[in-house]
Amino acid sequence: MSITENYQKIRETIPEHVTIVVAAKQRTPNEITEVIKAGATDIGENYVQEGEKIYNTLSKEREKVRWHMIGHLQTNKINKALKIFDVIQTIDSLEMAQAIDKRVEHTDKKVIPVYIEINIGSEISKSGIKPDYKIIEKLAKSISELEHLRLEGLMTLGPIAGNPEQSRPYFREVRGFFEKIRGLNLPRIEMKTLSMGMTNSYKVAIEEGANMVRIGTAIFGVRGCKIFK
Ligand SMILES: *Cc1c(COP(=O)(O)O)cnc(C)c1O
Repeated sequence: MSITENYQKIRETIPEHVTIVVAAKQRTPNEITEVIKAGATDIGENYVQEGEKIYNTLSKEREKVRWHMIGHLQTNKINKALKIFDVIQTIDSLEMAQAIDKRVEHTDKKVIPVYIEINIGSEISKSGIKPDYKIIEKLAKSISELEHLRLEGLMTLGPIAGNPEQSRPYFREVRGFFEKIRGLNLPRIEMKTLSMGMTNSYKVAIEEGANMVRIGTAIFGVRGCKIFK
């Protein structure tokens, strides 16, 4: 099936309130243009440099979608990232949040929506904060004091491979964190997005309350064997 057919089929089978972020790492500008023409609303990139290259290559299509940073953001790439991305999903420390806050001031954005990344059930990913409610709450409260950041959600990877049922308890736990943070009604934060679930696990994630899924393989096919940076 084509990229267009894949995207539209997934779009039709999941509830309307669930946003699909198309995970576009290692994909070409043509592939990304096709998925935008097929109706994609949100694109996720893992690396600032790769995102920048794609963003600069696309012309008017790029204005039709929101751009999400879904990989670990290095401090020395924040300025570039702020030129491309509308949302940063991978905040995992106060230092990073403060570094972004300081740099947003010098852009034409007033505020950037961010999610806290929770590292749960994932052996290979080193990014994300510990799935410990007290730590998450402390970071959420600190972010709510930063003028140029607006906390809007939580993001998690969960286990990468294996039976999607293995992900269920982790997704459920993150949902619990999400509801608790939302219940705090902190000033300047607007907890509305729970970003979890990938090709292999998005159905389970939606059952467990995700309203944003990040999907690559099921749309574009299996990625090439290029070494991950
Ligand atoms: C690659 C990636 C995805 C999508 O993974 P697929 O299995 O290809 O759907 C989702 N989230 C993040 C952070 C990713 O890096």
